[in-house]
Amino acid sequence: MGSKSPETEHPVKALGYAARDTSGVLSPINFSRRETGDEDVRFKVLYCGVCHSDLHSVRNEWHNAKYPMIPGHEIVGVVTEVGSKVKKVKVGDKVGVGCMVGCCHSCDQCGADQEQYCPKMVQTYNDSSMVTYGGYSDHMVANEHFIVTWPKDYPLDGGAPLLCAGITVYSPIRYYGLDKPGMHVGVVGLGGLGHVAVKFLKALGVKVTVISTSPEKKEEAINTFGADSFLVSRDQAQMQSGVGSMDGIIDTVSADHPLVPLIALLKPNGKLVLVGGPTKPYELPAFPLLFGRKMVGGSLIGGIKETQEMIEFAAKHNITAAIELIPIEYINTAMERLAKTDVRYRFVIDIGNTLKAA
Ligand code: NAP
Ligand code: ZN
Ligand code: ZN
Repeated sequence: MGSKSPETEHPVKALGYAARDTSGVLSPINFSRRETGDEDVRFKVLYCGVCHSDLHSVRNEWHNAKYPMIPGHEIVGVVTEVGSKVKKVKVGDKVGVGCMVGCCHSCDQCGADQEQYCPKMVQTYNDSSMVTYGGYSDHMVANEHFIVTWPKDYPLDGGAPLLCAGITVYSPIRYYGLDKPGMHVGVVGLGGLGHVAVKFLKALGVKVTVISTSPEKKEEAINTFGADSFLVSRDQAQMQSGVGSMDGIIDTVSADHPLVPLIALLKPNGKLVLVGGPTKPYELPAFPLLFGRKMVGGSLIGGIKETQEMIEFAAKHNITAAIELIPIEYINTAMERLAKTDVRYRFVIDIGNTLKAA
């Protein structure tokens, strides 16, 4: 795409934070966005969550980075302009945009409200087929199809992370049938995705065990997020106590880790669902799956219709992410902290109050 600079490609001036190379260090950038088309919604960004995918992406851990890269796909704010054909929202409404801003609208997946699996799905930032810039920026413009309307009185800051972290765990919980009251489901990795998974599962009446490398997260997992029990994955005796006890597991881990000890926790017919995106391939021997007819599956975010359903469900059950609200200038420190395992919530950038032209 284009020989023009990000600043001059489009008519509307914008301000953001971008990574320029694989160091992943973010700094202010002047860029531009398109004018509001007939079906477009333009909004002022107030908050944007910091997903571990942003970190993988800016550091080129998935080997697909295009720079300058303006990350962010948990974006919320207030509508400032709508195109003439827009029906979903009006100026002043609270809205969100998650991980997608485009799809073909005509394939089987689009027809089934599974735009995330459309071969022409366009990612909110760092898309492979066109230049897209994410939510670490002062405003957004997106086709109304990809706009999530905000439930009345639902918090924007604590709700923002649900646009990726929330739907990424909600969709597989539903699709793989791990949503039945009385079931026992494990959640591996108590980070941004993991703690939201615990909250959704508890709201559905499911018994939840957190499986974590961080013993110090136990107290909060149980007392704050409502988990029923906690296993330290590096403690063999604790893991042994859980063998054969779970109907399913949602694995949110962002780094290389063994799957066999997790498969052992499943009952016969149990399902291990991988949603994390580590860079190294998993090791997956056959026999732990054969004995017990166990299954390993994956899942990518969720469609727009299901994202809207998820956010309504969250509002109804008072589910928000636990957040640490940060100024944009703190983003590089936040990324450093996210690279370790000590964060058991979501960083959310206070874009509205802290992203200002120099
Ligand atoms: P996060 O907040 O950093 O949480 C990841 C958690 O994984 C950590 O808190 C830690 O939990 C655990 N962990 C980290 N390193 C580990 C290691 N070496 N061994 C075992 N456990 C480890 O990240 P996030 O934002 O929740 O994202 C998690 C992953 O999901 C990322 O890879 C991200 O790219 C991916 N993702 C996928 C989708 C999708 O559509 N499938 C959507 C969003 C994100 P403990 O301290 O409890 O062990
Ligand atoms: Zn994400
Ligand atoms: Zn399609």
